[in-house]
Amino acid sequence: MSVTVRVPAKVNVQLAVGGARPDGFHDLANVFLAVGLYDEVTAAPADGLTVTCAGPDAHQVPLDHSNLAARAALALAERHGRTADVHLHIAKDIPVAGGMAGGSADAAGALLACDALWGTGASRAELLDICAELGSDVPFSLVGGAALGTGRGELLTPLEVGGAFHWVFALADGGLSTPAVYREFDRLWEGRDVPVPEASPALVDALRTGDAAALAATVTNDLQPAALSLFPSLRATLAAGEAGGALAALVSGSGPTTAFLAKDAESAHSLADALRASGTCRAARVAASPAPGATLL
Ligand code: ATP
Repeated sequence: MSVTVRVPAKVNVQLAVGGARPDGFHDLANVFLAVGLYDEVTAAPADGLTVTCAGPDAHQVPLDHSNLAARAALALAERHGRTADVHLHIAKDIPVAGGMAGGSADAAGALLACDALWGTGASRAELLDICAELGSDVPFSLVGGAALGTGRGELLTPLEVGGAFHWVFALADGGLSTPAVYREFDRLWEGRDVPVPEASPALVDALRTGDAAALAATVTNDLQPAALSLFPSLRATLAAGEAGGALAALVSGSGPTTAFLAKDAESAHSLADALRASGTCRAARVAASPAPGATLL
């Protein structure tokens, strides 16, 4: 008998980044919003641990134990003193290395799926603890909805969302490595004091009221200059989205996916068409938020 878990991608509507800490991480004030683009992780009984992956970007996903889904299974097994006997299959729809936390989603999905398959009965607190060990974005993939992440992004406070937001995501040719983008951030700020990251009250309010225009006026991404510096062609994609009627255009997380907020579902579809026609991206995907976190199907 196998178990399947569906997990959403995320967009950062605010990504406020502080200076590098002595441990190399950055303090963040990170407002996550889960969006309706999903990976599905299926856990099936097996001898030993194996991973397979299907989907348009599957060839970019490692199938050894460096896969974040495999690492999640190993972490759960180790805590419960058992062997990680499971076959994990990832049906991948979230762009790989796109700044949408696809690997983190698979980790959260694998954790929940293995917990159900093995009957480990881990508490929510334990699952969140393992998620935080696996990566800064993993706890949010488990929880979904909207949340403020502080610390290195892993300390979550849920946020209220008062309505649906409609997005278009433009996928870029190639990926950006998150550590490389942080290194570029550090380089761009060299010799200057980075302000302490704080959540924007106006942005939190825009989420709570479900007001797309107010959200558009408040979205920010402190990693955007670094992502644009490493991937200058994203400027043309952002400009094409703005010309196509986006209320807001920004780099998603560490990029190179770009995110465009639309007025409503219909505008999102015409904006996606405009982006495809612009020739400035590999593909354009429409998705609504908020989306639920990791869910057993
Ligand atoms: P984030 O937004 O959290 O910074 P991302 O969306 O930019 O992440 P991912 O799709 O998570 O990036 O992948 C980053 C790298 O991690 C990939 O290039 C790949 O080598 C590796 N990786 C490990 N496990 C996975 C997985 N399950 N899915 C995708 N990539 C994975």
